[in-house]
Amino acid sequence: MNYLCDFCKLLPLGNHQPPTGLQETGNHAYAPEGGEAKYTHFFFLPTLSFLLCTMAPSSYKRIVLNSRPVADIEPDTFRTEVAPFSQLKAGEGQVVVQCTYLSLDPAMRGYIRDVRSYLPPVQIGEVMRAAGLGVVVQAGPGSKLKVGDYVSGAWGMQEYAVAKDKHLEKLELPAGIEPLDYLNVLGSSGLTAYFGLKDIGQLKAGEKLVVSGAAGSVGTIACQLGKAAGAKVYAIAGGPEKCKWLEQEIGVEKALDYKSPSFFADVKKHVGYLDVYFDNVGGDILDFMLTRLNKDARIVLCGAISQYNAVKPNGLKAYMNLISQRATLRGFIVMDYEDRYPEALAALRKGLVSGSIKRKFHLVEGGIEEAPKALPMLFSGGNTGKLVVRVSNEPSVRAKL
Ligand code: NAP
Repeated sequence: MNYLCDFCKLLPLGNHQPPTGLQETGNHAYAPEGGEAKYTHFFFLPTLSFLLCTMAPSSYKRIVLNSRPVADIEPDTFRTEVAPFSQLKAGEGQVVVQCTYLSLDPAMRGYIRDVRSYLPPVQIGEVMRAAGLGVVVQAGPGSKLKVGDYVSGAWGMQEYAVAKDKHLEKLELPAGIEPLDYLNVLGSSGLTAYFGLKDIGQLKAGEKLVVSGAAGSVGTIACQLGKAAGAKVYAIAGGPEKCKWLEQEIGVEKALDYKSPSFFADVKKHVGYLDVYFDNVGGDILDFMLTRLNKDARIVLCGAISQYNAVKPNGLKAYMNLISQRATLRGFIVMDYEDRYPEALAALRKGLVSGSIKRKFHLVEGGIEEAPKALPMLFSGGNTGKLVVRVSNEPSVRAKL
């Protein structure tokens, strides 16, 4: 059983098991089974915790949109603002959250474009939209959350935020699940891979699946779900290191380096024709894959990262293969599957706990101001696995601020 002390969860020690052979008899107190309490969990923790709990910061940082880039994200695309902490008050049904980790996502490039999309554009001067993990440090009247609860939510790129209960998810942390999983396998990436493969790709055992952006967050999970479904999985990623990792650690049939001059010939040689193409990158790779379709192939248009910074995205030339091969090319947005998240999360949780889904994070240290600097890594391929920023270790404040 995973055990979380009331005090320890506020400290960097986080989740831990009771000492072997002992059972918990109260906060920080343990006893041999059936015996009297005689061991206390590090005695200094309550004192230290109390001291930390009473140290409220006078201000906090938030990252706002400063200007809209025409192409690549620029150093002045975002700016840091410092706001007084006293502004943050949890109202009815609200809490104040301290952000511990932020997710960096390719979709952020879309959020700062002033165009019609599935979410409204972030406005100049607004806090940048971002999903994160955090801990409740103040609970308002009527809130169902408690100080110390671990939560996930989209409060944006800020160290602290006031959020409504209904916009937060309290994290369940059974054995084998870590808070960070909620930004990856149990977050948008896992859900996207699950519904993309299952509903749009309709992948069946024995079929050939090709995944692009395969060493990234969604791609890595799509490869593993594809393998679990009994498909032959081929991965596309940039560079020999990522390809080696995909073959050796993720266990794909073959990983193909799209930066290699022999890439197109390699696809022909190793894949031949495919049944499902899970596309994260768009552009020339998608166009080429349209020439490699089996009859009734399905193309899952998950993302098109190669085109996100383009002033004018490249069009497709080989689309007539869709007709001759009776193939389907379909886009989707994961949020449309919200009603079915429980189904997906049950499968993804099972995969994590059994070890059939491996997780990989690219963790950026240094606090919230590293987020805008790290974001372009997604477009240069600097990350392997899920790109996240550590904003803070654990709460430094508690209730009654
Ligand atoms: P990610 O794959 O972890 O990171 C992006 C990766 O894309 C980079 O690591 C890089 O890897 C690759 N890349 C960058 N530029 C490229 C280019 N010009 N050509 C080919 N590959 C390039 O990001 P993620 O969060 O998992 O997202 C993957 C895709 O899923 C994105 O397109 C995203 O927009 C999409 N997505 C869609 C939904 C939805 O609801 N439809 C939801 C979530 C995410 P290399 O080193 O291999 O180049």
